[in-house]
Amino acid sequence: MATLIDTAQNIRPKPALRHPEKANRPDTEVLRKPSWIRVKAPTSKGYAETRKIVKDKGLVTVCEEAGCPNIGECWEKSHATFMILGEICTRACAFCNVATGLPQEVDAYEPKKIAEAVEEMGLKHVVITSVDRDDLSDGGAQHFVDVIEAIRARSPKTTIEILTPDFLRKDGAAETVIDARPDVFNHNLETVPRLYLSIRPGARYFHSLRLLERVKERDPSQFTKSGLMVGLGETKEEVMQVMDDMRSAGIDFLTIGQYLQPTRKHAAVKRFVTPEEFKAYETIARAKGFLVVSSSPLTRSSYHADSDFAKLQAARQAQHA
Ligand code: SF4
Repeated sequence: MATLIDTAQNIRPKPALRHPEKANRPDTEVLRKPSWIRVKAPTSKGYAETRKIVKDKGLVTVCEEAGCPNIGECWEKSHATFMILGEICTRACAFCNVATGLPQEVDAYEPKKIAEAVEEMGLKHVVITSVDRDDLSDGGAQHFVDVIEAIRARSPKTTIEILTPDFLRKDGAAETVIDARPDVFNHNLETVPRLYLSIRPGARYFHSLRLLERVKERDPSQFTKSGLMVGLGETKEEVMQVMDDMRSAGIDFLTIGQYLQPTRKHAAVKRFVTPEEFKAYETIARAKGFLVVSSSPLTRSSYHADSDFAKLQAARQAQHA
């Protein structure tokens, strides 16, 4: 069971170094971004309003923590992806900008605060993700459930998408979350199996794949979703093999986006995949039977998640018609 606290004062301050485990790594070369990666500075009124709600409620978003390039576009439309269970991750993936280290205590008021924000922002669809919490006996599963239930109590019409950690070595955790019946269960495979040891060393490819398969086995009505970053040195054939693995696990929705290097200490971008290649991946993935595919340089797991959820529903209806 997760340890809960009931006073904000007990929350541990942020560490000075975001990635202490990477501090002594040699710098990697940062490739100049091509023209198709550039994004506008976030300056809109809608962006400012979303930012105010997030700050006023003391919430954490992956949009900010991961340095997402789409923040201007998404926040203008109130589409923020909330990150629960603190700002410190217990893994140290080579691609991720979320801070790592000793995690914070779980904020018992977080489900209520997120539910209030969802209501205030009038969200039709919300995405909830979290840091990895290997330190908690249930990996944070019950906290996911508490957040889902709090949102449902205040905004019963809002559809809920969760983007979870892998719950590796947390028996029963995935089932706890599945049984809360989120509308979309997302877990990213992130990269091809050959690159796991260097890019996602704390995770196991087949465990992640199996997690999504277990969702479908336990509750076939839930949509499953997974994503890949490209530009890390994978081959086209390896990406196609992952697509086949995903389809074997019954995954409905595939996202593919360009990996962007957060700092010189992170894994290097091997190359920028062209928009035409993303289009080709989309065509191949559709042919392999995914209900929805989002494949573009700036695609991220939660990018356009609300409109893509409507596409998922429509695609399933068409399939059953
Ligand atoms: S794509 Fe996702 S993480 Fe990035 S800004 Fe949009 S909602 Fe946030």
